[in-house]
Amino acid sequence: MRTTRELREIVLVGGGHSHVQVLRSFAMEPPPYAHLTLVLDVPLAIYSGMVPGLVAGRYTAQELEIDCVPLARRAGARVILSPATGVDARNRRVLLKDRPPISYDIASFDTGSTVGGLNLPGVREHALPTRPIGLFVRRMDAFLEKARRHPSGKALRAVVVGAGAGGVELAFTLERRLRTELAAGVEVRLLEAGERILPGAAPSLVRRIETQAEKRSIGVECGRKVVSVSADHLALEGGVELPCDLLVWVTGAVSTSLFADSGLATDPRGFVLTRKTLQVRDYDDLFAVGDCASQIDYPRTPKAGVYAVRQGPYLTDNLRASLAGDRLREYRPQSDFLTLLNLGDGRAVGSKWGLTFEGRWVMGLKDRIDRRFMRRFQVLGPDGHPSAEFEAMGTMDGETEGMPMLCGGCAAKLGQSVLDRALERLEPGPKDETVRLGLEHADDAAAYAVGAGDHRPVVVSSIDAFRAFTDDPYLLGRVAAVNAVSDLQAKGVRPRYAQALVALPQDRADETNEESLVQILAGARTVLDLLGVTLLGGHTLTAADALVGFHVEGIVASETELLGIDRLEPGQELILTKALGTGVLFHADMKGMARGSWIGEALESMQRHNGVAAEAAVAHHATAATDVTGFGLAGHLAEMSRASGVTAIVDIDTLPALGGALELMARDERSTSHEQNAKAKKGMRIADGAGSHPKLPLLFDPQTAGGLLFGVPTAERDACLTALRKAGETATCIGQVVKRPADGAPIEVRAASTL
Ligand SMILES: Cc1cc2nc3c(=O)[nH]c(=O)nc-3n(C[C@H](O)[C@H](O)[C@H](O)COP(=O)(O)OP(=O)(O)OC[C@H]3O[C@@H](n4cnc5c(N)ncnc54)[C@H](O)[C@@H]3O)c2cc1C
Repeated sequence: MRTTRELREIVLVGGGHSHVQVLRSFAMEPPPYAHLTLVLDVPLAIYSGMVPGLVAGRYTAQELEIDCVPLARRAGARVILSPATGVDARNRRVLLKDRPPISYDIASFDTGSTVGGLNLPGVREHALPTRPIGLFVRRMDAFLEKARRHPSGKALRAVVVGAGAGGVELAFTLERRLRTELAAGVEVRLLEAGERILPGAAPSLVRRIETQAEKRSIGVECGRKVVSVSADHLALEGGVELPCDLLVWVTGAVSTSLFADSGLATDPRGFVLTRKTLQVRDYDDLFAVGDCASQIDYPRTPKAGVYAVRQGPYLTDNLRASLAGDRLREYRPQSDFLTLLNLGDGRAVGSKWGLTFEGRWVMGLKDRIDRRFMRRFQVLGPDGHPSAEFEAMGTMDGETEGMPMLCGGCAAKLGQSVLDRALERLEPGPKDETVRLGLEHADDAAAYAVGAGDHRPVVVSSIDAFRAFTDDPYLLGRVAAVNAVSDLQAKGVRPRYAQALVALPQDRADETNEESLVQILAGARTVLDLLGVTLLGGHTLTAADALVGFHVEGIVASETELLGIDRLEPGQELILTKALGTGVLFHADMKGMARGSWIGEALESMQRHNGVAAEAAVAHHATAATDVTGFGLAGHLAEMSRASGVTAIVDIDTLPALGGALELMARDERSTSHEQNAKAKKGMRIADGAGSHPKLPLLFDPQTAGGLLFGVPTAERDACLTALRKAGETATCIGQVVKRPADGAPIEVRAASTL
């Protein structure tokens, strides 16, 4: 019998039309003995077929987005949010931007194409190109806004360059949208460098489009090649100039240089050559589909999403067959397919088998087909709940075989009261006069004096480790390093040396663990090297779960330089860097319920070290600081105010939340150790208006690699916040420190209504 030691690694690069089908299929029926990784440049894949409908105002951006992150989670895949830059097919590695390559047993590329002519003078500055398509969608509002600002007395001249199917639809939908919204007259032109519009389409379809264009006064001009673009006109080959106020660039699909640069066989346009089985020409373990590939046997196949869609089931079957060592299926591109072109006025034109048709019913048909396609991949509905389609597949309710799913990162910390009780039961150790911060201090760092004399330097050290919160070892290494150095930064100390502690799963093959270790240490090194921290060595072991941590050390000339947790002073303002919510976000991610954009933002925050925050704290005369990690903001703040004998007043309205955190909390999603952290409520005074405040749960959310929390004199508050924000930090004043009244609590939570 095979064991998990023989897990094969499948790496999918890109969230194109075929790969989303692989993910869905693997979510419904996971392939045995395989681990899946999805590499994405951006979390959202856009369904281009509905883009003209967005321009027409028929769809919202969300309706044409496939969030690949929850979809991948459903398929048990890890997601790497970093674009692939190449492939080392001989050594079976995918190369990634700003991080080490990842190994694969089988890889597949579905990375689409880009639009040609972007390097012509002025195109990038003045045109709206349709690729990357996500950017096109995001820029559409600003594009329309520019049109609305056009002086009302003058006709607006819009030009669409490129008259393939996409260009034709964009010319019609843009014309309708502009005419509906603008008081000024609108002139729309569709320019094509070739001899005819819609190359390869049935002549009757072309005729219908031309007739419609004439009726709508859309100027269709073939044999018009743009050579440069400026703010208000286009220069054409032959010296002609055309006035232009708005420009959409939708010239034909071209390849990026990724495949040619990787030494793979490509066609003359740079698209990677594939066989009928969708395998890349010289490599059985490398597949490529959709626009990015060119089939050796069918070189004339146009670049259209319909092919990528049809290839999906073949790719899925062939990936499964490759894993099982079975025979692969051969894909032959369909010779004809249903073409449906959106006219933007509620009607569409269609063609199939040489027949053409048009009308509202054709648009209705297109709408039904497109929406049905999208429903298969949109895991989360607009309200954030799993859509009916995925609910029916069975939700990931956070439990496996009756065991609750446990959060990793700092959410996997032992409860504070458990730690306190255990330390209380421990016999005091022998007195050591060199100790400056030890067991009797509730501090995250330890410190001891070295050398002789009255003013001895102090070594400050800390150890921090957590269970894996992600199955991306590189990311884990980075975040674990950020988290570990943060303990010293919170003391105002520059970390200098580190040693690693890494446990890897005992049931994994040696090669898998070797690869993970390389990735973990490489990730950690990016942070440590940047901060001038030397990695001295460490210790590795195998365990039930992966765990990563670091022992970190720094040295200061005198202990008086240290920020303490016991030195908050009445009159200080409380500053928090970074936003809160990583606990609940990664809890939801494990359940396939977090949007990719939320996870992207949280990961960005978790990979940002606290060095800048520490410098600002010291520069603005902070006396006390801590970093916010597993015990949540309330736990760490309570520790500080207890040790300082003061009351911290928190204005709950000010608490900064990461995108999605409040939405998830409103749906009662909570990280594993939230409940444990929320026990801190007992020692807090929560004003009436704050008790039911939607931000209250943020106080107890365990943070992984959270921000710094420190107190600065009131006079320094604004300058400190400005300096932090200028340096790109999220910085918020969340409250004040006051003298603790006789019956006062370490933390008082107030809301605007109670202030
Ligand atoms: C306006 C417009 C309308 C269109 N309408 C139609 C239509 O109605 N019907 C039709 O058949 N075709 C249509 N097309 C063409 C269609 O968009 C493409 O043929 C289709 O998107 C190709 O699908 P794909 O799976 O190859 O790649 P894509 O859908 O482009 O997906 C590629 C994916 O890979 C990701 N990616 C790219 N590079 C990297 C990288 N280096 N690393 C990681 N990830 C990466 C991208 O973010 C994206 O998720 C239209 C095109 C446009 C511009």
